[in-house]
Amino acid sequence: MKKFQSLTEIQSALANRQLSMVDLVQYYLSNIETTKHLNAYVEIYEAAALDHAKQLDAKYKDNPETVGRLFGMVISIKDVLCYKGHQVTAASKILEGFTSLFTATAIQRLLDEDAIIIGRVNCDQFAMGSTNENSVYGPVLNPIDNTKVPGGSSGGSAVSVKSDTCLASIGTDTGGSVRQPAAFCDLVGIKPTYGRVSRYGLLAYASSFDQIGVLSHTVRDAALILEVMAGEDEMDSTSSQKPVESYSTSLQFERKAKIAYFDTALEHEGIHPEIKSTLSTLIQQLEGNEHEVQKVSFEYLDYIIPAYYVLTTAEASSNLSRYDGVRFGYRNKAAKTLEEVYRYSRTEGFSPEVKRRIMLGTFVLSSGYYDAYYTKAQKARQLIQQKTLEILQDFDYILMPISPTPPWNLGENADDPVAMYLSDIFTVQANMVGIPAVSLPLGYHSNGLPIGVQFMANRFEEASLFAFSEYIFNNYCS
Ligand code: GLN
Repeated sequence: MKKFQSLTEIQSALANRQLSMVDLVQYYLSNIETTKHLNAYVEIYEAAALDHAKQLDAKYKDNPETVGRLFGMVISIKDVLCYKGHQVTAASKILEGFTSLFTATAIQRLLDEDAIIIGRVNCDQFAMGSTNENSVYGPVLNPIDNTKVPGGSSGGSAVSVKSDTCLASIGTDTGGSVRQPAAFCDLVGIKPTYGRVSRYGLLAYASSFDQIGVLSHTVRDAALILEVMAGEDEMDSTSSQKPVESYSTSLQFERKAKIAYFDTALEHEGIHPEIKSTLSTLIQQLEGNEHEVQKVSFEYLDYIIPAYYVLTTAEASSNLSRYDGVRFGYRNKAAKTLEEVYRYSRTEGFSPEVKRRIMLGTFVLSSGYYDAYYTKAQKARQLIQQKTLEILQDFDYILMPISPTPPWNLGENADDPVAMYLSDIFTVQANMVGIPAVSLPLGYHSNGLPIGVQFMANRFEEASLFAFSEYIFNNYCS
């Protein structure tokens, strides 16, 4: 079977009766089998997906008008999203054997539009990481070069799409976890505005940063999936009441854009020369086509990572306190007292990186240190927000790299958490501010690995961001 890159292609093959949903699911299942070594899947819903495909084929045959907007869409979901009756573990031992009691709103909305879920994919434990090495299921390999990391934390999501085992994947992005693996695996990734998609049924990492996003081959598929998932939800009070625009049908971009980029980003000392030159070429091409591209100064870039790791670890320390060995998942059997249950279960259940963050977060919230760290980081966030939104009053988009370096070797930064944290320098800002951001597959390094470019827009400007992304994708991405 030919490799499908978009839902449009699949839907036309279905309409021409060249393809059935059963064929398609079987094709993906066989690809899952042949790409097992990449370690993207932690659970495959083989029987259920085939069954669902059969039902949808029958429904379509009966009356093609009755199928949903996502008929033909086969997706994988990151192991932090609840799907009733299915296990969810956040790639952690602490949730061993835990079964979701309800379905995340975002996932339910996809199902309601006739998407098929083919499996649950690997990720960094509790979505903490940038390489998908921090998982109880072991590392995920980059399908383009198996010695490299696929990015994280939604590494399994990116790999499942890139290795043609599904058409799109649902990931989450707290500081770059959709965009960075999308860039490392040559895909499109979107992190929407904070509050655009309900977080109900998402295992929380840092609640004021977390958003559910999409990884796909095309901008249109990401736009369509997002418009299905987005919108108000009474189960999440932070979900926005703003109506959702039809992103996928307003992808034409025919005007001149006003784009800002930061001197501190493109001239950052840590940025790889090939990434810098690829992005500089893009800037020249955009200017050549009469878009206005301006270098602006942004003096806060180096404060973003420290502030992010204070605030997210503080939130994580609180969110993860619920995993106590009593109510969910793993419990140490030898523990004799309540204190031992907590201590042993958490010690054995969480990975070293998750424990590091819980301890850091507990520390920055502790009395005597709260003002010095937590309050200060809140102030930094405020300043970063103000300045970014100010820039977005004058410009339509902000152009940024995704990662300062190409995908690195498996194991390379594993012993150096700070080096790992610093790799998030260009993606965290969108989460700090709550604005939407995309990652687009722009070009390639001389070693054949992909280079992504990021665009951010103002809050709830997804429609404009998608249209511009489609334009960039069609005209500048190789
Ligand atoms: N790499 C970042 C972190 O470890 C981002 C993770 C994410 O977006 N979930 O926190």
